[in-house]
Amino acid sequence: MKYNELYEIGKNKLKAAGIEEYELDARLLLESVCTTKRHDLLVNGEREVTTGQEQDYVNHILKRGNHVPLQYILGEQEFMGLNFTVTPAALIPRQDTETLVEEVKRHLYDGMTILDMCTGTGCILLSLLYYSNNCQGTGVDISAEALKIAARNEERITSLPRNAPPIKKVNWIESDLFAKVSGRFDIIVANPPYIPTKTIDELMPEVRQYEPLLALDGKKDGLYFYRKIIDRASQHLNKGGMLFLEIGFDQAEVVANMTAEKGFYDTNVIKDLAGNDRVVCSLL
Ligand code: GLN
Repeated sequence: MKYNELYEIGKNKLKAAGIEEYELDARLLLESVCTTKRHDLLVNGEREVTTGQEQDYVNHILKRGNHVPLQYILGEQEFMGLNFTVTPAALIPRQDTETLVEEVKRHLYDGMTILDMCTGTGCILLSLLYYSNNCQGTGVDISAEALKIAARNEERITSLPRNAPPIKKVNWIESDLFAKVSGRFDIIVANPPYIPTKTIDELMPEVRQYEPLLALDGKKDGLYFYRKIIDRASQHLNKGGMLFLEIGFDQAEVVANMTAEKGFYDTNVIKDLAGNDRVVCSLL
């Protein structure tokens, strides 16, 4: 079969399955299967694909038609200009979370120590380490499976060419929040689960059916993990240390109040590119 015929089939199947970005997704999956770049499809549409590629593509389209996230099919997501491996063991890196990383970067100096609580794919910590020098990273997650992905991503990111000192080895810790964490850090950053349990059902099927519930569910009011993290953070921050939390769009005030109650000051709320409150940042 020809490249552009296969693309048409993929597009139509995804459209029929109600996938919003059916054209884009059909193209990206085809490019992935055929290891081609965008213009190949436009210029060489008459090219024959192998039966193996055709079968792989049909399988991918079937999965995507069932709302499996594109990134889990491709196995990758770009974040902060870097490519991260993703599997259903961890949340797919979100563009909103780049706002969190950008805010930490504004306060990050070379040589600082950073703790990333609920690290998942490790995308927050690893991008901070990639864009700084000589910082020491610690990544914590309750999920051993997530930490395997994070370690794989560490290998990927540390092997990238960069005109700077090598990235220091990350200390990955399997721990329920601070249970197995010792010592103090200059920066604590976290994107914990923050969706209230009853709201999970309203999320897109891609998220609700395929992303790990463990990484999304913030329990009854969505604030469970903020309480736990803020409660313990001061015991693990150096004097003058900073806490950066990603939050849901309607959680800024209540989370900011929690930090104030635990002795943090100079609390700032930062908006994401869509104009929603997205990050609470506090000084100890
Ligand atoms: N922002 C994510 C979503 O809407 C949730 C991330 C989280 O709970 N930490 O799917």
